[in-house]
Amino acid sequence: MASADAVVIGGGIAGTAVALELARRDVSVLLCEQGRTPGEGATTWSGGLLRAHHTAHCVTALAARSLPVFQHWGDAVGGECGYHRTGFVMIVARRLLGHLRHNAAAVEAAGVATEMVSTASMAQRYPALSFAGQQDADLVAAYEPDGGYVDPAACARSLLAAAVARGVRLSEGVAVTGIVIERDRVAGVQTTLGRICTPTVVLAAGAWSARLLGSAGLQLPVEPRRIGIARAPVDAGSGPLPAGIDDTLGTYFKAAGRQPGGGVYFGVTADPQVTLDALPAPITQDEVQAAAKRISIRIPAVRAAAVCGARAGFDGYTPDRQPIIGAADVPGLYISTGFSGGGVKIAPAVASLLAAEIAGEEPDPLLAPYRPQRFVTGNLIESEYRYVHS
Ligand SMILES: Cc1cc2nc3c(=O)[nH]c(=O)nc-3n(C[C@H](O)[C@H](O)[C@H](O)COP(=O)(O)OP(=O)(O)OC[C@H]3O[C@@H](n4cnc5c(N)ncnc54)[C@H](O)[C@@H]3O)c2cc1C
Repeated sequence: MASADAVVIGGGIAGTAVALELARRDVSVLLCEQGRTPGEGATTWSGGLLRAHHTAHCVTALAARSLPVFQHWGDAVGGECGYHRTGFVMIVARRLLGHLRHNAAAVEAAGVATEMVSTASMAQRYPALSFAGQQDADLVAAYEPDGGYVDPAACARSLLAAAVARGVRLSEGVAVTGIVIERDRVAGVQTTLGRICTPTVVLAAGAWSARLLGSAGLQLPVEPRRIGIARAPVDAGSGPLPAGIDDTLGTYFKAAGRQPGGGVYFGVTADPQVTLDALPAPITQDEVQAAAKRISIRIPAVRAAAVCGARAGFDGYTPDRQPIIGAADVPGLYISTGFSGGGVKIAPAVASLLAAEIAGEEPDPLLAPYRPQRFVTGNLIESEYRYVHS
C-alpha cells in the first residue's frame, strides 16, 4: 500500500501550488489527478486575469501577495506562467465612486500600484475601448498598471514540474474515490488504483470537491458551475487592450495574445446547471451572442467580428463567492477549493499560507476569513464596498 505524509487531491493550480509548497517544507507528498495536469477543471480553461482590485479586501491582500510570484515566476517557481502586463481597469457607475476609491485605497495599502483614471484617458490609452454616450458623468475607473493576465495551464504545469523536482509523486489518471476516516481522523484515501495511507489530505478538487467529501459523509457548500469565455478578433489597428471588468455591463475582458490583433476574450455568464459526469458542454451560439452584445458596448469591434472560439470549464462556487481554505473539523483534512471563478490570481499566496499551516507553523491571519467553519457560524465573507455585480 502506498503512503505519504500528505495526499493532495487535484492537479489544477490550487493542488499543484500547495504540493510544491508542502515539498518545500520537507513534507512527502503524493498528488492524485483524475485527468492529466493541468487537469479537467477550471485551470485548463481559465482566463487568468490578474488584479488586486476586489470589493472584499481579504482577497485584495491575497492577490497582492501573489502578484510578485507571477511577476518573477522564473525565480519563484521556474518555467513560464505567461504573465502579460497589459494593465487592468475596473469600470463602475459614477454613483459608486466612493466604493471605487475605498477599494483602490485597499489595493494601494496592500502594496500594488493603482490610480483613479478618467474614461477619456482610458479611451486615449486603449483606443479599442469605447465610452461613447457614457462619459465621465456616468462612469469612473481605477487602473492597475501591473494587472493583466497569466496562462493558468502553464502555471500549473510549471508548479507541477517544480514540485516533482522536489520529490512530489504524481499519480495522473488516478481518481480519489473516497477519503478514509478512522478513529475520527484522516487515515488515507481510496483511489481507482487502491488505497493510499496518509495522515493528511488536502482537498483541491475544484468543482468536484463537495461530491467527493459527500462520499465520506461530510458536507461542503461548494456547487459546480460552468464558466465560459469567448474570443473575437479585433483589428490590430485598434491597438493594445487592457484586462478589465466592467461592472456596469456585468462582464470582463482581456487581450487574446500578446500582439494587437490577437483579439479579445470576454466573459460568458456562468451556468449553474451542470453535470459533473461529463465534460462541460460547449458554449452555445445563444450564450456567445448575449455575451458579445454586452461587451460590444465597451469594445465595439466585437460587434462586427465573427466570434471565433470559446472555452468552458467547471469551477466550484461557495455561497459567499469566496474560497474555502484551511483545516476541516476532521483532523488531518485540509480544504483549498471553492474559488468561485477567481482562484488563479490568489493561488501562490493561498498555497504558501496553507502549506505553512499544514507543516505546523502558526496560522496566518490572512487566511482567517476563509475557514470552512464560517458556513456553520454564519460568519460569511462580505465585501466592504460592493459594486453591482461584485
Ligand atoms: C472560463 C474561465 C475563466 C476564468 N477566469 C479567471 C480569471 O480571469 N482569473 C482568475 O483568477 N480565475 C479565473 N477563473 C477561475 C479559476 O480558473 C479557478 O478558480 C481555478 O483555476 C481553480 O483552480 P483549482 O485547482 O481549485 O480547480 P481545478 O482547476 O478545477 O482543479 C481541480 C482538479 O481536481 C481534479 N479532480 C477532481 N476530483 C478528483 C478526484 N476525485 N480525484 C482526483 N482528481 C480530481 C480535476 O480533474 C481537476 O483537474 C476562470 C475559470 C474559467 C473556467
